[in-house]
Amino acid sequence: KKYQPWEVRKVLTTCPHCGTGCQLYLVVRGNKIVDVVSAEGPSNKGRLCVKGRSGSFDFIHSKERLKYPLIKNKKTGEFEKATWEEAMDLVASKFLELKKEYGPDSLAGFACSRSPNEDIYMMQKMVRTCFGTNNVDNCARVCHSASVAGLAMTLGSGAMTNPIYDITHHDVDCILLIGSNPEEAHPVVGMQIRKAVGEGARLIVVDPRDIGLSKQADIHLKLKPGTNVAFANGMLNVILSEGLEDKEFIKERTEGYEVLAEIVKDYTPEKVAEICHIHPDQLREAARMYAAAKKAPIIYCLGVTEHSTGTEGVMSISNLAMAVGKLGKPGCGVNPLRGQNNVQGACDMGAMPGDFPGYQKVRNPEVIEKFEKAWGVPLNHKQGTHATDVFPAATEGRIKGLYIFGEDPVVSDPDTHHVIKALESLDFLVVQELFMTETARYADVVLPGVSYAEKEGTFTNTERRVQRVRKAVTIEGEMRSDADIFMDLMNRMGYSQPYLTASEIMEEIASVTPSFAGISYERLDAGESLQWPCTGKSHNGTPIMHVGKFTRGLGWFFPAEYRPSAELPDEEYPIIMMTGRILAHYNARAMTGRTPGLNEIEGRSFIEMNEKDALKLGIVNGDRVKVSSRRGVIESTARVGVKVSQGESWMPFHFQDGNANWLTNAALDEYARIPEYKVCAIKIEKA
Ligand code: SF4
Repeated sequence: KKYQPWEVRKVLTTCPHCGTGCQLYLVVRGNKIVDVVSAEGPSNKGRLCVKGRSGSFDFIHSKERLKYPLIKNKKTGEFEKATWEEAMDLVASKFLELKKEYGPDSLAGFACSRSPNEDIYMMQKMVRTCFGTNNVDNCARVCHSASVAGLAMTLGSGAMTNPIYDITHHDVDCILLIGSNPEEAHPVVGMQIRKAVGEGARLIVVDPRDIGLSKQADIHLKLKPGTNVAFANGMLNVILSEGLEDKEFIKERTEGYEVLAEIVKDYTPEKVAEICHIHPDQLREAARMYAAAKKAPIIYCLGVTEHSTGTEGVMSISNLAMAVGKLGKPGCGVNPLRGQNNVQGACDMGAMPGDFPGYQKVRNPEVIEKFEKAWGVPLNHKQGTHATDVFPAATEGRIKGLYIFGEDPVVSDPDTHHVIKALESLDFLVVQELFMTETARYADVVLPGVSYAEKEGTFTNTERRVQRVRKAVTIEGEMRSDADIFMDLMNRMGYSQPYLTASEIMEEIASVTPSFAGISYERLDAGESLQWPCTGKSHNGTPIMHVGKFTRGLGWFFPAEYRPSAELPDEEYPIIMMTGRILAHYNARAMTGRTPGLNEIEGRSFIEMNEKDALKLGIVNGDRVKVSSRRGVIESTARVGVKVSQGESWMPFHFQDGNANWLTNAALDEYARIPEYKVCAIKIEKA
């Protein structure tokens, strides 16, 4: 141990990495975090993964932290240290100037899904009241916007239906895991699934790649990337043709069944097997196993959403659960594992172009009227631009000013060249960050914010649970709390915004957001564990959604026909590439990349390829390879084996020394505008 117990104090908070929302203690000596120990939280029950245990504090004390505002010198292109007065005046005046010249919809803001709800609420309020636009979004646009849209359309609410504990305990009979590798991306959920399987639950893994849990599975459907809709329709075909559906549930609780039955009729196991590259009997067996199980949750992740047909994939999965009546019940449901620690909260807080906080719709005049009254200014009635559409709009000159709070799209968005071109086309770019990220380098002004360990707030985890984030340390420098920066800017732009504490901001959130109406710091600090909807002070929150009635009334079967991915392999680019995350790192590695131990586990880019493809190309394990697509060329290291099928490959997107996003395709889903990270066509050559 690096410390003695009497030298330290422990601060209870929430892990800053993935959406599992594990509770942990930051161990603080003086003003320095020296350790992390697990706490008994509702989603982790004392467990932590390597990221939570090792990757939650080194970055806070990093020498590379931004400590004062920076303004780019136009002549030299270099950043120069500025005072807060200079930087804030420049930011406020420049956005007002652009608004006057090009109109409010020429401005946009991206909120940080790593920051607390209170910061995000204030940022979207600033964009709506001061920029005068609904062009506000968050990184859910590139990960789970398809879940938000698809589940909202079919069930009425775009969030995980059941708690993590509920779908991994309580004698769950069968887990249907689709496009999700929780042992790497949501490790504490993965641990609980592994334990449930060890205790007798059946497991069906639907994933194009061998993952840790596929070895534990009763059935692994190693389907071709991009064929989820065909797979779900095939499962439904077997269920309906063998009479395994829940007729009473369909009759009492749903609508649109006839259309569904008509569409899935054509998706015979043989046809689906051909599309998905699986065996028809395996599909039959999976459908029977899932339908027959009493308690059977569907758990899914980005393998379902990050496609040009992502929303249709989500709706098809929702159709599947409704057809067998596995919704609104313990140990069941449709459960998207949300990625970042507070990406659920970023959506809940209204950092969405079509939604005010609590998914209150911009297109509803009563909602606009309500927020105009609450915020005291006229608001823009027009639906905003999605983050993924902001880049082409900037390149075409329709977006002139962009405020990026805690996002690094140069690393994390698809087709890096097109992102850089868009950022370079802007008249004015502000980035609010902890570090000089790849995106921050393109900014006109960089404002230094603070990390989760330096402020009060709340994160909402993937199961809709609102949990406290507590200040543990103050880091030397001139940084300011992120919500304070927004409140200051709002005043400078002419909106009279009182300075509120985090707890007072939550009071305002509760006053305008029916699903948060009962949530307060008082209740959370008294130890209550609240999952929204929590509609009043005496309401205990909602662990399981859609009990007895769907949020939209009746569940709506919304079937889709299978459509191939936007870019398929051909002679020139013969291999499909998928992207994903690994256990040791998180997204652009702004945090985990500053933890030496995690870099030792995995510190460089690699590409997994099939041994038959490698043999043909004369590539052996460990060779440096040149990987190219229609959009870019990178170098990486080959990992040869059978984790991926022949003609397919997989790359993590964490590493700058060969980032997969130089190659990925920015083709967008028509409903949620989510990009197709999971399928693009590439060529691999020996470097
Ligand atoms: Fe943090 Fe997620 Fe690991 Fe839990 S599972 S410790 S929330 S990274």
